[in-house]
Amino acid sequence: MALRTPEEYKESIRDGRNLFYRGQRVEDPTEHPALKLAVDHACIDFAMSHDPEYRDLATVFDPDIGERISRYYSVPRSSEDLLKRSELTQVGTRLGDGLLLWTRSVPSDGLVALSIMARKIDAAKETGYGERVEQYRRHCAMNDLALSAAMTDARGDRSLGPGEQEHPDYYVRVVRETSEGIVVRGAKAQTTSTTHTNEIVVMPTRALKEGEREYAVSFAVPVNAKGITLIASPYFSEGLNDFEHPISGRHKQTETLTVFEDVFVPWDRVFLNGEWEFTGPLVQTFANYDRFSYCCSTITKLDLMVGAAFLIADYNGIMKASHVRDKLVWLISYAETMKALTKMAALDCVIDESGVAMGNPLITNVAELHYKSGFHQAVSHLQNLAGGLLVTGPGKEDLESPYTREYVLKYLGGRKGTDTEERLRVMNLIRDLTASEYGGYIQVSAVHGAGSIEPGKMAIRGNYDPSEAMGLARRVARID
Ligand SMILES: Cc1cc2nc3c(=O)[nH]c(=O)nc-3n(C[C@H](O)[C@H](O)[C@H](O)COP(=O)(O)OP(=O)(O)OC[C@H]3O[C@@H](n4cnc5c(N)ncnc54)[C@H](O)[C@@H]3O)c2cc1C
Repeated sequence: MALRTPEEYKESIRDGRNLFYRGQRVEDPTEHPALKLAVDHACIDFAMSHDPEYRDLATVFDPDIGERISRYYSVPRSSEDLLKRSELTQVGTRLGDGLLLWTRSVPSDGLVALSIMARKIDAAKETGYGERVEQYRRHCAMNDLALSAAMTDARGDRSLGPGEQEHPDYYVRVVRETSEGIVVRGAKAQTTSTTHTNEIVVMPTRALKEGEREYAVSFAVPVNAKGITLIASPYFSEGLNDFEHPISGRHKQTETLTVFEDVFVPWDRVFLNGEWEFTGPLVQTFANYDRFSYCCSTITKLDLMVGAAFLIADYNGIMKASHVRDKLVWLISYAETMKALTKMAALDCVIDESGVAMGNPLITNVAELHYKSGFHQAVSHLQNLAGGLLVTGPGKEDLESPYTREYVLKYLGGRKGTDTEERLRVMNLIRDLTASEYGGYIQVSAVHGAGSIEPGKMAIRGNYDPSEAMGLARRVARID
């Protein structure tokens, strides 16, 4: 039944999941005043599959399944596949006004990483995980599922391993095995979109040691499985009008604390169970895929920031000032470097022995560091060009009121010949990108999304072979 409509997708998440928002049980996320926006945002992805304009990009024909499936569930095998995947992420993000359509893009990276690792574990230990992961991928593709990827454990004291914590459940672990499957307990933090996805793919969050076998677990479960409790973050929530919040008034992403309290997982959904030696490579492989998608999803946001910077410089009449040119050039370079690196990561991809293509890990991690280390500077430039009206301007009602509209239009104009209301709309776009709750959310996301900055730096060092550069330096220094 591949390729669901938005309505079919919405119906599928009215499944009795144990979801809480501000301490209250949510009966139906599709009708909840705060969470509904996130559901509607996710619907864009499902609508793309049926829209003649996007169908060829959003879907591919799968010869094994015998019908079209979401491109996200097709395993990339070449640079072209990665470029198409990147384009799909970017176009989706554009339709989401700069906010990534999460529910298949990043989580499906988890499936690709698992399939690579599962075959390696099978080769070393004759486990049979590869076939399970493949069957699960087909299940996701054929049922056109929306997924979450849960890797980040709650973790407690960051300097301690999972078994050394105050209690044993800071990291998700296996508490029991039965003839039918495993029983897991623990919590994953900050899991995106779980309020409105169908299933959760769980993976370990760090490289584990021999004594930590019980934490070396990966599996997939329906979000409404018995024992799962979801506590949604209220960050950037409901009731925002789309004049003051042109993005967050229309779009939303959610995260949950995802609690697994003795959740049963049948064997055919278990993809790792005790093979601790493979946790490090699995985390790395997923991180590389995740960061590639993450980098692709930043491009629309950066284009939006560049466009808003040009517009506000024009409305404010400062386009010819040299400091403005400097800021615009910085923003252009920041965005264009991101595009070039992401494209290069796809073109210079690495293909593993089973034929699966991965964005070049060194370039992907360099791209991610470029984005993360520059984002707050980009925010600062944009705020600088816009002015303090970003946070001091009038509200929607002031523009509508017969008592105040005239003053707002008369006194908050910009360059001669420009429209005041339009100037305020651009101002509000910049506010939403840099100074609203949503602006705060994307700034934190720029630091911690797809993993925080330090692991990315370690990946750069780990993927860089300095011998050639050192040889060059030796030769020029005349060292034998
Ligand atoms: C918007 C958003 C969406 C997200 N979505 C998902 C998702 O869908 N699935 C998912 O699995 N995760 C998700 N995450 C989680 C994200 O991967 C984590 O935020 C990130 O890995 C950092 O972990 P943390 O938040 O626990 O911070 P911490 O790891 O606690 O980081 C705080 C600081 O502590 C440092 N630190 C941590 N451990 C150590 C150590 N051992 N030694 C020295 N320094 C250390 C870090 O470098 C950092 O400076 C999301 C995060 C955000 C912001």
